[in-house]
Amino acid sequence: MIPFNKPYLTGQELTYIQEAVKSGKISGNGIFTKKCQHFFEEKYGFRRCLLTTSCTDALEMAAILLNIQPGDEVIVPSYTFVSTANAFVLRGAKIVFADSTPDNPNLDVHSLEALITPRTKAIAVVHYAGTACDMDAVMALAEKHKIYVVEDAAQAVNSYYKGRPLGSIGHLAAFSFHETKNIIAGEGGMLVVNDPQFEQRAEIIWEKGTNRSAFWRGEVDKYNWVDVGSSFLPTELVSAYLYAQLENLDDIQAKRMQIWQKYFRAFDVLEKNGKVIRPKTPVYATNNGHLFYLLCNSIEERDKLIKHLKINEIYAVFHYISLHKSPFHQSATTAELPNSDNFTNCLLRLPLFYELTETEQQHIIDKVVEFYL
Ligand SMILES: *Cc1c(COP(=O)(O)O)cnc(C)c1O
Repeated sequence: MIPFNKPYLTGQELTYIQEAVKSGKISGNGIFTKKCQHFFEEKYGFRRCLLTTSCTDALEMAAILLNIQPGDEVIVPSYTFVSTANAFVLRGAKIVFADSTPDNPNLDVHSLEALITPRTKAIAVVHYAGTACDMDAVMALAEKHKIYVVEDAAQAVNSYYKGRPLGSIGHLAAFSFHETKNIIAGEGGMLVVNDPQFEQRAEIIWEKGTNRSAFWRGEVDKYNWVDVGSSFLPTELVSAYLYAQLENLDDIQAKRMQIWQKYFRAFDVLEKNGKVIRPKTPVYATNNGHLFYLLCNSIEERDKLIKHLKINEIYAVFHYISLHKSPFHQSATTAELPNSDNFTNCLLRLPLFYELTETEQQHIIDKVVEFYL
């Protein structure tokens, strides 16, 4: 069976983990944590990076930093992973779901302004498949209405909007290093602080509500409980694993892009014949080879294709069930979000991982094409 995903080991992970163990410090905020944070700050110009135990945790930190209170509204695309919304729900926010664009699962900026009310505190955008949202339009609206923007950049490592790295544009951003992402650490994530007003407090929230980091730098003479916070730091074992991945980022990205482009070219004819739709990358966006999907014509057709591939030992999967239709949130919603529903019903993701061989990929392509013959 060709799996949908296979976590890739670059080779140095275990060596670095061993180094961390031998160093005598395996709790968080040690050498490898700092190395990873510096890597991102230097390569992408992110103002301040804090590694977290997951992207979910980074989003929860963002919600605390923005002082989200019961009654506040936060706009979130319906077509996303639960954490994008759940992080704000934990603070008592009311989630207002936005529809996707017709062309890709990203939040439709044209529908955004109508969702803004005097209670809107933040917009969380998701760069689905690493493809940028129209950030100039989002930031302009946010500025006009004095709203904060959080980029859920879980899938968006090494991807750009008009030449600017994703994760550097919103006031805050969150990345994921879950084993299904491009750069992995098992479970792991990162908060990016772009707005300097949040820099100091982010570190405190990260360190369980204490000023421990400032204390170690000698900036304060007592180590105290100064704010709310939680245990958001990953262990050095996770950071050590992640650092090995970061050293190989260019190689990992090149390989994933190569696989992505082969899929894209291979299904050109199917698209021309109206059988499937391939991903569209807007002119302002880049592709980072995070995931490759096809849009089928209906849910019935998509499910038949999944079965056909399974019989041929290929594991292909659909993606999000629109959050506005989820058992937890259903009752709170009234609006129809047809584009989001369309991606829920018709989107199919094909296997894409570093070690996918050319033979395996050709087999996948052949079986998809065969289904539509
Ligand atoms: C993977 C993912 C998350 C969650 O990341 P974790 O690191 O598993 O918490 C959140 N949002 C999006 C869009 C994701 O793809």
